[in-house]
Amino acid sequence: MKNRRIIPEEPLRNRVREHAARLRDGDDPVEFWAAFCEEVLAGHPESGRAAPPEADADCPPDPRTSRLHTLFLSLRTPVLLLNADFAVEVMNPAAVELTGARDMEAWSRGDHDPVPLGELAPWLESALEGEGLGAEGVESCRIDVPVVQRHGERHFNVAVSLAADFSDRHNGYAVVLDDITARVEGERQLAGERNRVAHYLDVVGSMVFTLNAAGKVDMVNRTACRVLGYAEEELLGRDWVDTLVPLLQRDEIRDCLYLVLSGQVEEEDERTFQVTTREGFKRMVQWQSQVLTTEGGLPVGMLLSGTDITEQRAIEEALAEKELWLRSTFVALGEAVLILTPEMTILDANPAAEAMFERTQAELQGEPVSGLHVSAGHYDDFLARSKAAFDAEERALFELPLKRRKGEIFPADQSVSLIKGDDGATLGVVNVIRDISDRKYAEAELKRSEEKFRRIFETIEEGYMVTDLEGTVLMVNPATCRLLQYEEPELVGRNIDTLYKGAGERMAFRETLRGKGAVRGLQMTARRKDGTFIVIETNAHQVLNNQNEPVALEGTFRDITRRIEAEKVLRESEKQYRAFFENNHAIMLLSDPKSERIIDANPAAEDFYGYPVEVMRTMNLSQINALDRDAMFTEMRRSMDEGRTYFILRHRLASGEMRDVEVYSGPIMVQGAQRLYSVIHDVTKRIELEQEMKLLATTDALTGANNRHQFFSLGAVEVQRSKRYDLPLTVIMLDIDYFKSINDTYGHAAGDQVLKTLSASVSTLLRGPDIFGRLGGEEFAVILPQTDIGEGTAVAERLRSTLAGLAVEVGAETVTFTVSMGVTQVRAGDQTVEEVLNRADEALYKAKRMGRNRVVRD
Ligand code: GH3
Ligand code: MG
Ligand code: MG
Repeated sequence: MKNRRIIPEEPLRNRVREHAARLRDGDDPVEFWAAFCEEVLAGHPESGRAAPPEADADCPPDPRTSRLHTLFLSLRTPVLLLNADFAVEVMNPAAVELTGARDMEAWSRGDHDPVPLGELAPWLESALEGEGLGAEGVESCRIDVPVVQRHGERHFNVAVSLAADFSDRHNGYAVVLDDITARVEGERQLAGERNRVAHYLDVVGSMVFTLNAAGKVDMVNRTACRVLGYAEEELLGRDWVDTLVPLLQRDEIRDCLYLVLSGQVEEEDERTFQVTTREGFKRMVQWQSQVLTTEGGLPVGMLLSGTDITEQRAIEEALAEKELWLRSTFVALGEAVLILTPEMTILDANPAAEAMFERTQAELQGEPVSGLHVSAGHYDDFLARSKAAFDAEERALFELPLKRRKGEIFPADQSVSLIKGDDGATLGVVNVIRDISDRKYAEAELKRSEEKFRRIFETIEEGYMVTDLEGTVLMVNPATCRLLQYEEPELVGRNIDTLYKGAGERMAFRETLRGKGAVRGLQMTARRKDGTFIVIETNAHQVLNNQNEPVALEGTFRDITRRIEAEKVLRESEKQYRAFFENNHAIMLLSDPKSERIIDANPAAEDFYGYPVEVMRTMNLSQINALDRDAMFTEMRRSMDEGRTYFILRHRLASGEMRDVEVYSGPIMVQGAQRLYSVIHDVTKRIELEQEMKLLATTDALTGANNRHQFFSLGAVEVQRSKRYDLPLTVIMLDIDYFKSINDTYGHAAGDQVLKTLSASVSTLLRGPDIFGRLGGEEFAVILPQTDIGEGTAVAERLRSTLAGLAVEVGAETVTFTVSMGVTQVRAGDQTVEEVLNRADEALYKAKRMGRNRVVRD
């Protein structure tokens, strides 16, 4: 143990000053001052001992000492010199600053009175005491001391050396405070870092192994143990590949690790392969490796970190599958789907949306969805509705029209929902749109149809009624009230049984409805409010529910009282008609105007035609009508022209006999069918009579030739025709010669016979168009149309000679006679037939005068 040695004040100061002057830039101040302290403590004799005492006014300051002092003062490292009593004798400004001592000036000058260390820096004193400095012979020490200051904690490495003077006297201590705050802080951080790494390795989700160069496990973290089901001790020292890699992959993985470890290949960034757990399960792990090298770069092992992606893979696969499924659904969906960004820009659109908006996906992508809205106002509405739903964490469902490319607006059902990430952030918006034009149309149609039904219900003349199965009236239309003369409230709730006249009808109605489910055209009698009855025709059916069970009865009815009465009247009138038809003496036929089939014939017809009625009912009118088609038309035309109400036809009887008939026909409705009613009059006799009378009026009764009147009528027509068409016409006048004497000789009857014989003979000699007439007595005339005077004269001559050759037998007598004739031709100036006949008569007179039995032309 050494005694304490006290170093005299002055010489030490001088030495410090001297030493400080040697300090160079770049010197480590601690080392520098440590060397100084060792030198002082070693007690070199020349170390400043000859230096004059401090503050010696007579001695000028040593320049070296002054320089050292300046340096001491400017040192950033706090340096304190303590006396043996632990009082601070000298401090440099850095130390003054550190201790917070006052009177920097005095300390800097080095003439401050010693101050106990405990006053200036109690932390340092206690630290030094803690080291046992000054006691138990401890003379030097080196300790790290923390000090808390205003600006934070600082750390110093305190080097204390015993300072002794030449006489080895205990002279105090040199204390150099090396600021190691930065180093301590760094170490602390490093330690923290180490802790964190260790902790990290244990808590990190990845498996971490370090392998040595032989591929044995050096270290393994907790995650690896947990995932693989091993205890740490079970893995340490084991071959990593053999232990964990499935048999089939071992060689490949081992080669790979070897190549990486031996530096023959660059390590791969990442490699995914399976490892086997202790239980034998396979885990898919994504491995990252890092070669561990010595400072010299020699590989000594490998760090392996692996992420168990078994679940992730499964999830990824499931997601991919789901994504695929979603995508195909998205594409195939009939509804238009737009995927929007949170800013309402279109990200994606499915084919249905392309069709709906008449734009391609490329055209839609990147466009603001507002462009599909009808107006800015509509879009604001869309945003407001969507936001309200999103705020309530719901899907927005609303109807809002949208716009196609060409501006066509259509009603749309829209659904808007948010796509949220796992962290709750909004990723996008799904807008599903359904074009509801069709539905709208259908709704409008339905409304129209309901409206129509309601109008029908209210305006139909037929009663409409709904009752429950017990017959309680549930609903009636205005017609029902009108027909039954009740007010609606009086009918609703009333049992329908009170509205029937009789229980029998009611039962029949119920039975049919129950049996067949429906009633058609059933006639019933209903009782009105005033007790009177109406006959109704009812249609009704059961109303069935979805299970086909009857739940109500629904029916319509109409008042057929009038119809029934009318039918009764008709039936009576039919009876009357029948009697009229059956008992009438007039011949009557009833036929179908279209087919001309005879529907009915009365007994008079049976008598007339000679067919039984049953046979006639199978016959057609054409079988009794003897006129051919053309004749029928002619008669119909004539009937119309003459304003007749009948046709004059010829009917054939069963016997084949023909009869002239007048047929009066008119339309008639018989039991709802259109019929032709015909009354037939047999006019055969009348027509015969008429023809006879006509003959009498136009011919001469004795000879059958045209009478004078008829001859002049026909002659006038021919003269006019001749003049109109400029055709020749010749007229002959003929008179029997000495007829008076024939009468006188043979009697009047013989004369008549001569007249008749002459007429018959002339008639056979003439042509069809020639007209022969008896003008009176024994005077005749002939008109020869289209015959000139030459031809006419020849005809006259032929007549004359023929008649002259006739011998008329009268009894036993034979009478012969001659005739004289005058011939003339119609001339341009002739106006009437009489003029022409007068000229012929003059020619005849000439022939008489010339001796008779001759022809004279004028
Ligand atoms: P003529 O050669 O000059 O003609 O001499 P005629 O005797 O024929 O002349 P007349 O005219 O004098 O005589 C006509 C007679 O014809 C007179 C009359 O009694 C007779 N007669 C007239 N009508 C009929 C008649 O219907 N039957 C008969 N038997 N005689 C008639
Ligand atoms: Mg005569
Ligand atoms: Mg005469």
